[in-house]
Amino acid sequence: MKVTPENIRSSILIIYTGGTIGMQTDAATGALVPFDFSGIYEEFPSLRRLNVDIDVHTMPQLIDSSNVRPEDWSDMAAVISENYDRYDGFVILHGTDTMSYSASALSFMLENLAKPVVFTGSQIPIGVLRTDGRENLITAIEIAGAKIDGRPVVPEVSLLFQNRLYRGNRTHKCSAGELDAFRSYNYPLLAEVGVKIAYNTAAIAPAPPVVEPLRVAAMSSEGVAIVKLFPGIGEATLRAMLSAEGLQGVVLETYGAGNAPTSEWFLRLMRQTVERGVTVLNVTQCDSGSVEMQLYETGQQLRAAGVVSGYDITTEAAVTKLMYVMGKNLTPNYRYELMARPVKGEFTL
Ligand code: ASP
Repeated sequence: MKVTPENIRSSILIIYTGGTIGMQTDAATGALVPFDFSGIYEEFPSLRRLNVDIDVHTMPQLIDSSNVRPEDWSDMAAVISENYDRYDGFVILHGTDTMSYSASALSFMLENLAKPVVFTGSQIPIGVLRTDGRENLITAIEIAGAKIDGRPVVPEVSLLFQNRLYRGNRTHKCSAGELDAFRSYNYPLLAEVGVKIAYNTAAIAPAPPVVEPLRVAAMSSEGVAIVKLFPGIGEATLRAMLSAEGLQGVVLETYGAGNAPTSEWFLRLMRQTVERGVTVLNVTQCDSGSVEMQLYETGQQLRAAGVVSGYDITTEAAVTKLMYVMGKNLTPNYRYELMARPVKGEFTL
């Protein structure tokens, strides 16, 4: 796809939330201290050569992303919503540890989104010589500002890391030590960054056909849980987990193509949980491939118990989608329906 940023100027808002990307070494003490992104042009003069105007919004409380909460997602979404008409695109600087959760959450929360929201971060602080943050930042800005025929090239929530652009709600942090730290096992890249940025137009979600105002959906995280099966999981333990007060939705991490034990107690417990109105989503523990509940008897029995197939969804997208659906106050049947179909390209049927 031919993108000609040269002749169309874009305006970008960078939303800085914290994480490694925002750290630099204090010359006096040697300690890592937050980097001031408001001086971005002085620090990275090459940004002036991009055809973009950049403003920076620093969140009042900078956090290590292991502290991120749904309230922080609401704050990020509110900044986008308040500035939506003023900017062509948004870049969210975020810690890498939970970036896939936040990108997934925002993909659901930002209803009617028609502009780019690009998450990025780094494994090495931006103020360290060998940082990966500089390239990630500059490329994320370029992608957030890219237009074709006046329209944004990537009008969805994406994640840029190490020269690859992913759909945000398809990502998973796969490495704590490598610079190439993210993967999208079940969905193709949205773009690959080489000498030029090669956009994979076929994989990018088009903007909604009818322009409607951006709406920020509420999330409800209180009654949501992830339960990972393992050989030997005990009945009493699982029963205790699934009897938690206020439980409304469970990501059930199963084996392979969505398989689980066929023991009588296990299936009875699943049935009872679903009958109590709890939404149970079947997600595979494998990195790639899909849940296929019709394939084996074990899957068929889960389906008969009212468990919903998560197909090839990631755990990050599954748990944040449950929070999104729980935030809508629907009846169990409507919840089931919403969980069973992709709403933001988070799984492939
Ligand atoms: N602990 C950091 C964070 O997620 C790690 C990073 O940014 O890479 O905020």
